[in-house]
Amino acid sequence: MGLGTFRRTALVTGAAGFVGSHLVDRLLDEGYEVVGLDNLMTGDLANLSEASRDPHFHFQSGDVRDPLHVYAEIVFNLACPASPVHYQRDPYATFTTSVLGAKNLVDMARGSRCRIIHASTSEVYGDPAVSPQPESYWGNVNPIGERACYDEGKRGAETLLSDAVRIWGVDGRIVRVFNTYGPRMAFADGRVVSNFVTQALSQSPLSIYGSGTQSRSFCYISDLVDGIVRIGHAEAFRGPVNLGNPEEFTVRELAGLVLELTRSRSTIEAHPLPSDDPKVRRPDISRARALVGWEPKIPLREGLRQTIEDFRQRMADAPRSGAP
Ligand code: UDP
Repeated sequence: MGLGTFRRTALVTGAAGFVGSHLVDRLLDEGYEVVGLDNLMTGDLANLSEASRDPHFHFQSGDVRDPLHVYAEIVFNLACPASPVHYQRDPYATFTTSVLGAKNLVDMARGSRCRIIHASTSEVYGDPAVSPQPESYWGNVNPIGERACYDEGKRGAETLLSDAVRIWGVDGRIVRVFNTYGPRMAFADGRVVSNFVTQALSQSPLSIYGSGTQSRSFCYISDLVDGIVRIGHAEAFRGPVNLGNPEEFTVRELAGLVLELTRSRSTIEAHPLPSDDPKVRRPDISRARALVGWEPKIPLREGLRQTIEDFRQRMADAPRSGAP
C-alpha cells in the first residue's frame, strides 16, 4: 500500500476466539488496520498466529468489561464465552461480559461515532415455539436457568444497544449468530461438532445428549464471517439480522455424517439432555438476504470435511496444541 493511501481501522473484540480470529483474517485481507482485543478467557493466541505475522494487526490484551480506549471506525463485538461449557463455567463473567461489554462499546461509540456490529445469538430465541425463527420472534427463554447467563446477557446487550440507537443515534447493528463450526474450534468447548469430530477421530464413542432428535442448523465459518462483514459494510441497516444456515439436521444425523466422513469405528453413547436444551433451531434468513444479499454457500458435508482435516492436523500436533 503506497503513500497517500490510508487504511480503515477495525476493532475486533474477542479476536482470539474461533469466530473472532477468522474475522480478523478476513478484515486484514480486505486491507483494514485491525486491532484485536481479547482477555483470553476462552480465546487462544494460536488462532491469531497467521494474523500476528501481518504488520497491520495489533493484538491488545484487554477486557470489554473495562472502559475501552481504542480508536476504530468500525467495531465488531465478539467478546463473550459462547459454548455452553464455557459460558456456564463462570456465569457471572458471561453475563457481565455481555452487558458491560455492550455498555462500554456504546460509550465508545457515543464519543467517536464508530459503527458497532454486535454479535448476539440465536439463544435469544431460547427453546423456540416458532420454527424457523424470524427476527420478529421474541423467544422463549428461562431467565433463571443454567443457560440464562448467556441468553439473558445477550438479550440485555441487545436492549442496551437498541436504546443507544434510539436515544443517541449510535450506529449499532445486531447480528444473531446461529450455530457455527469450522477449523480452529476449541477441542474442549463441548459443542456438538467439536465433540463429535474429536471423538470420531480418536475412536471414542460419540456422545449424543438426549434422544438426538433435537435439531440445529450448522453454518460454516467462512459463510458466517462473510455475513458479518456484509452487515458491517451495508449503507443502511434495519435489524437485528439472523445469520445462520437454514438447512436443519438432527444431532443424530450429524453424528452419522461425522462417522461417515471420518470413516471412524466409533459407537454412539447416550447421555442425559442438558437442562433448557432447545429442541429445534433454524434461522429464517429472509432479512439478511434482502438487506445484504447474503446466504450460506458451504453445505454441511463440505464444511465438515474441512473441519475434520483441521482437527486431524491439530490432533497430530497434540503435545503443542493441547489436543485430546
Ligand atoms: N450435543 C450432543 N452431544 C454433544 C454436545 C452437544 O448431543 O457432545 C447436543 C446438545 O444437547 C444440543 C446440540 O447438540 O442439543 C447442540 O449443542 P451445542 O452445545 O453445540 O450448541 P447449542 O446447544 O448452543 O446450540
